[in-house]
Amino acid sequence: MLTVQNISGGYHAKPVVKNVSFQVGKGKILGILGPNGSGKSTLLKIISGVLKPQDGQIIIDGHAIESYSVKQLAKKMAVLPQLHASSFSNSVYAAVSLGRYPHQNGFFSSWSKEDEQAVQTAMEQTGVARYKEQYLELLSGGEQQRVFIAQALAQNSELLLLDEPTNHLDIAHQKQILDMIRQQVEQNGLTVVSIFHDINLASLYCDELLLLENGEMRSFGLPHEVVLQEQIEDVYQARIATYPHPELPKPQITMLPAKEMQRHFAKVAVGDFRITKDYIEYTAQAPLKVVSSAVHNAGMGWYESFLNRAISPYYDINQVNEETVAFLQQHQFAPTNTVVMLTAVATKCAEIQSFSSGNCEIVVMVTAGVGNGIDVTKAYLRDEPFHIGTVNTWVFVNGKLSDEAFIQAMITATEAKTKAFTEQQVVDQQTKTIATGTATDSLLIAATQQGEEMPYAGPITEVGKLIGRGVFETTMAAIEKYKQAKN
Ligand code: ADP
Ligand code: MG
Repeated sequence: MLTVQNISGGYHAKPVVKNVSFQVGKGKILGILGPNGSGKSTLLKIISGVLKPQDGQIIIDGHAIESYSVKQLAKKMAVLPQLHASSFSNSVYAAVSLGRYPHQNGFFSSWSKEDEQAVQTAMEQTGVARYKEQYLELLSGGEQQRVFIAQALAQNSELLLLDEPTNHLDIAHQKQILDMIRQQVEQNGLTVVSIFHDINLASLYCDELLLLENGEMRSFGLPHEVVLQEQIEDVYQARIATYPHPELPKPQITMLPAKEMQRHFAKVAVGDFRITKDYIEYTAQAPLKVVSSAVHNAGMGWYESFLNRAISPYYDINQVNEETVAFLQQHQFAPTNTVVMLTAVATKCAEIQSFSSGNCEIVVMVTAGVGNGIDVTKAYLRDEPFHIGTVNTWVFVNGKLSDEAFIQAMITATEAKTKAFTEQQVVDQQTKTIATGTATDSLLIAATQQGEEMPYAGPITEVGKLIGRGVFETTMAAIEKYKQAKN
């Protein structure tokens, strides 16, 4: 659809844009990224024919851009510039209608049904139809931006060039505009080249990205090839981290504030755990980074309070979400800042121990309801519904873990728990083999994230050795307490 070949150009003899080449296929969105002043708008002006390139070629649908008349070009391509000085003191309707100019013939051409339809559709798609009699200057910046997008869409061209289309828009309107553009791309084969200020939006909505640095191409490719931590940090001169989007395979970034912005100090100690009849509680001095399979606030996040709640065997698990929030509020815990596990074991059977070596320290809490142990390797033979029985394990690390170390810590802790089951001869009552866990075990790894980062937590690392020994010994003791309580 669009081929840009070795384009250089700018405003004076010295080019702003230098030797840029790329292609965009029909029905694709290309996002242009780059810091302020890197030449994004200048590149778009060259592609749209506003600026003549000093070197190189623009080819649209196989024909050099110079071979199109102004009007032919306007039918092929609609442009939303970064700054719109024009068309003020027009009504919204009149402004959007200007988009139909390339479709008019001669001076006194009649306004066709098709023109009217295109204007109405564009106004509806951008949500500005209800202001159509309003004067443009009376609208907010975001509303004006939507009118200009409507004007470009009313043009019904095959190629849309946009310079920061979601500037001034709140997230609802960003989503509305970009979803709509994406829909035009997927359903009608529209091709879009758009400049983005926001790297995350660009990654989310674009098929391919072009990253400009001082007017030159630094990178071109799929979002996961362009949105790379070191590359973005280098080009934008800002510390960032990347993370996966929760629903789509599109990398996202987040800024990292200055290193001086220290968090509150936190250190986990056994003496700070509180055991009541209803729960085992630990509240840290500051939020800890957590990975867990808890009942409330599972997954990865930052949390300050941790509860292991003793519940009756008749607890209604179908109401667990609402009931947990109500319980937390009643006991003055913030539902958004607390991780909760449930156990049928009495809280007095909890075992809490700390382990340290060198400059590494962990605290482990276990409640071990092993009455309904399951041999996971034979679980496929079971036909009966499972019975409640739960081993809840908390591992607190006074230190900083990488993501990889968090995952390894979960494996290390699980292996240690299983070994305790073997030592304690916990038997799967149905298969009569040694159980490896129960049907509803939960595990939590929490770290203060202070000090030198520990990249790994496998069995032979310093922290892994503590976790292996700590979870094993604490689970052994917790199983013994459970057995004693039963007798
Ligand atoms: P971006 O859109 O990436 O922020 P621009 O393409 O607007 O960057 O600007 C790139 C460079 O070109 C900047 O150094 C800017 O000062 C210069 N520039 C932009 N517009 C003009 C102009 N009309 N005349 C002269 N220089 C300009
Ligand atoms: Mg710009």
